[in-house]
Amino acid sequence: MEKRLCYRCKQNSPGKYEDISFTYLGMTVKISKDGLTCEECAKELWVQDFEGKVKEFIKISKSGKPTVNWPHYQDFFSESRFSDRKERFHHILMTLGILSFQPEGNWEIVADGRVGLNPRAFLSYFYFVNKKDAIEFASLQFPNTLYGWEIHLISEVIEKKELLKGLKK
Ligand SMILES: [Zn+2]
Repeated sequence: MEKRLCYRCKQNSPGKYEDISFTYLGMTVKISKDGLTCEECAKELWVQDFEGKVKEFIKISKSGKPTVNWPHYQDFFSESRFSDRKERFHHILMTLGILSFQPEGNWEIVADGRVGLNPRAFLSYFYFVNKKDAIEFASLQFPNTLYGWEIHLISEVIEKKELLKGLKK
């Protein structure tokens, strides 16, 4: 039987798709590793991305808590510049626990008529884990809009399936 190897280093076994967590510069990082890359390479790729695309926007506290420099973000990515890098940036913020795909317990920015204004990934909508980030992001991105907007803390989310199941009882 042919042994499958990591597509990147071609040495280690890639293992399966799994969520892994590790520490970098004192920060806790959580990533989803695919089934083609070994754990070491997955970490190295993350570090490459962080160092090359994200680090200049992040301040790390002594206890390892990352804080985003949103004014720098605002300047750098203004007028839709570097959109690929921006997507990657948002993704890295997710692995650092600053943004999340999960609505429950997190913050979102909502305009009149329920227009979502959060940073977007290609397919997914991000929520802010921290109130402070939601406030700063919204204040910098949308100070001069003609429409109103608010930030919301989402306390409970019930999916359609779950909700309909409840009605049948
Ligand atoms: Zn590898």
